[in-house]
Amino acid sequence: MTPDTNSPNQQNQNIESFLREDRVFPPVEAKELGIPKWHVGSLEEYRTMHARSLEDPDGFWSEIASELDWMRPWDRVLEWKAPDARWFVGARTNVCFNALDRQVRGGHGADTALVWEGEPMPNGKPEVRRYTYQELLDEVSRFANALRNLGAKKGDVVTIYMGMVPELAIALLACARIGAVHSVVFGGFSSQAIVDRVVDSSSRIIVTQDGGWRRGNVVPLKENVDSACATLSDTGRDVNKVIVLRRCNNSTSWHEGRDYYWRDIVDVSSSHCPAEPMEAEDPLFLLYTSGSTGKPKGVIHTTAGYMVWTYFTARTTFNLIPDANQMYWCTADIGWITGHSYILYGILPNRVPTLMYEGAPDAPSEDRFWDIVERHQVTHFYTAPTAIRSFMKWGNEHVHAHDLSSLQVLGTVGEPINPEAWSWYHRMIGRGRCPIVDTWWQTETGGHMITPLPGATPTKPGSCTLPMIGVHAAVVDATTLEDLPKGTGGLLVIKKPWPGMLRGVQGDRDRFVRTYFDNPHGYYVPGDGARFDEDGYVWIMGRVDDVINVSGHRIGTMEVESALVSHPAVVEAAVVAMPHEIKGTGISAFVTLEPEYVENLGMNAKSLGAALRQHVRGEIGSFAKPDAIRFAESLPKTRSGKIMRRLLRDIAAGNQDISQDTTTLEDYRVLAKLREAEEV
Ligand code: ATP
Ligand code: MG
Repeated sequence: MTPDTNSPNQQNQNIESFLREDRVFPPVEAKELGIPKWHVGSLEEYRTMHARSLEDPDGFWSEIASELDWMRPWDRVLEWKAPDARWFVGARTNVCFNALDRQVRGGHGADTALVWEGEPMPNGKPEVRRYTYQELLDEVSRFANALRNLGAKKGDVVTIYMGMVPELAIALLACARIGAVHSVVFGGFSSQAIVDRVVDSSSRIIVTQDGGWRRGNVVPLKENVDSACATLSDTGRDVNKVIVLRRCNNSTSWHEGRDYYWRDIVDVSSSHCPAEPMEAEDPLFLLYTSGSTGKPKGVIHTTAGYMVWTYFTARTTFNLIPDANQMYWCTADIGWITGHSYILYGILPNRVPTLMYEGAPDAPSEDRFWDIVERHQVTHFYTAPTAIRSFMKWGNEHVHAHDLSSLQVLGTVGEPINPEAWSWYHRMIGRGRCPIVDTWWQTETGGHMITPLPGATPTKPGSCTLPMIGVHAAVVDATTLEDLPKGTGGLLVIKKPWPGMLRGVQGDRDRFVRTYFDNPHGYYVPGDGARFDEDGYVWIMGRVDDVINVSGHRIGTMEVESALVSHPAVVEAAVVAMPHEIKGTGISAFVTLEPEYVENLGMNAKSLGAALRQHVRGEIGSFAKPDAIRFAESLPKTRSGKIMRRLLRDIAAGNQDISQDTTTLEDYRVLAKLREAEEV
């Protein structure tokens, strides 16, 4: 398959499905969870809204958009000529205004907008800061003026490379306020990632910190910026201004005339800064994808459509209600789309406080998240399957040590969640009552695309269930693009435009068209394989690039991995195709184990391998048994916590050199260790 298209072009591309999951969890009454109401309270109501949103998108989106504030109304809701969408054509608005000014003007300036907790616990106590909408507005306005004073203008790209501190949120909102386009580079990336993204976006301003806290250590953010700037300057792409927030007080070098301390420029700036009226299609930000399947793509999102989409999906999926004592916490980093959409842009306009935590889930101990939930009375908890699998491995005692009864709605995002992990999340964290919203979406989609609605959708472990209101999802044959019958796996596509869709790939029109719209119907092709079940529920089967073609079966990675994870010894698993002498293609599995199995692995590796094969055979069938199994300490993941199967394919094939893009790989040592691991 050619790397840069999401639609495979070979014959017989359907994916077979073998794993069965029959459990269904009906929604519970809102009052049972202490919630005033469900926004969407039944499956019928969802179906009516969904049908209307597709039949009359103009009317539907006009109504939703009218709930927000506009400086000029739209002339037309949508202009669509695939692959180019223009939403709310002719309108002017400002995303920051809708996040902050709107609440202050509505008389809620004194309500809590943002709660932040730092990682270090000096004297055993966490550092907590709270911002009201008015305070946040003042800080954002000051920083917006400071940016302007340093020469930032509407349309300029501002690179932001920070840890999870409140000033990170302030920096994004300030850019939105003056119409500067932010490009956040996750604070865990190296200086090379900064260089790549600054070059790609022609950015001249970087906002950073002296250092960021991570598991008690200082991540040298400013030092990384300095070395990125040196590299950039060697190639004649000077960065003009670097703004430095002090956080860790670590020593850093200083470039007079280029570097400015955050406080020095903010303290002298006025807190009066009217929000810039932005055209509906003015860019709001650039953000790079995770790099799971290849070199990251610089996704462009614009103003009005993204604003309406994140506002609406956040409210609907999480059932956000102002004045209902909710405390919403998304554990993602703002460096990812999840943080952009569901820490900031979707949450603030809904007037529910959003919580930000600076550090690691196991700092200082493995119960840190549950401690935060208990102390802040968190009602909404949104995290990733990779985190859930870690919690499981760390042991239930950390959960039992805390009172989690404030929780109402749980969410997951980022990867398919194995039914095993789903069940643990439901039982241990949700006390068997909280609905789980397994939200399928992408950097490119801006917000949730396929997800349960907590008061309406019965859930099934491992399924992201039904398309979001406004989303026309289908599973099609990759060759004919015809809809496939229920039960058959194929290419997931989105047939109609939606407000939050990407508007382009930075600097690469061709890649934008080829990757996502390489078909005559103008369907959006996300690159994931999926099937509908008999109830019309969507089951994501993995990436289409990762599908394994073995003994005449095309198998999605998700099912074999879930079968492995359902064995008591296994914490996490990744499977990839490998060359096989007889079959042509075989299945290679990489598996991490529960601690008690690791201890005696040396003697038992072979018998455990045999047991796992037997287990997969029982769960799926003989043809899905892994041909090679490697036990590993950890799997190669992107910095956002996703398994990078493309790197495992090289190892499974015995390739010694990795020639692929590894800029988003979390830990290089993992690859070296995996190469040494013995096959059983
Ligand atoms: P790249 O596009 O650079 O390869 P990426 O696809 O991992 O990286 P993201 O935009 O962060 O970049 O992730 C989107 C992908 O994550 C989806 O295409 C899907 O494969 C996976 N994903 C996200 N949420 C879910 C979910 N709830 N269930 C299954 N898969 C999910
Ligand atoms: Mg992707």
